[in-house]
Amino acid sequence: GNQTFTMIKPTAFKKNYAGAILKMITEAGFQVKAMKLTRLTAEQAGTFYAVHKGKPFYQALVEFMSSGPIVAVILEKENAVEAFRNFIGATNPENAAEGTIRKLYGTSLQQNAVHGSDSDENAVIEADFFFSKMERF
Ligand code: ATP
Repeated sequence: GNQTFTMIKPTAFKKNYAGAILKMITEAGFQVKAMKLTRLTAEQAGTFYAVHKGKPFYQALVEFMSSGPIVAVILEKENAVEAFRNFIGATNPENAAEGTIRKLYGTSLQQNAVHGSDSDENAVIEADFFFSKMERF
């Protein structure tokens, strides 16, 4: 697939990192195809992370992801899902490579600055969750 979905998580947005993060993303060759500032309800965050339901971190993650505005973005690049996951760094910012978004802007395993789709299938599901046809370019 040539598209992936990302979110700038609430803490990173609140700290005003959105501009710097989007600059890194576009300079790495990812093209923005859709973008919005929005806020998830707890119910929506629960649906978005339903795959993690039952895990010990699920409830806190849902609360965190609905705690403030997020920036939702569809990105295009060759092999987008894998390229973006490699680009942002490991899930835990402590383990992320130097210079990656999660290393630079993440503050904890939960508050790791950005989301990145983990498969082409989920990229489509997640993009459709946030964007209508007329919001994509
Ligand atoms: P994302 O799906 O956000 O791109 P990921 O695929 O790297 O992240 P997942 O394992 O899918 O990581 O977990 C989804 C999110 O849940 C992580 O980004 C992180 O914010 C949170 N998370 C995962 N594991 C833990 C944990 N053990 N404790 C707290 N939060 C966690």
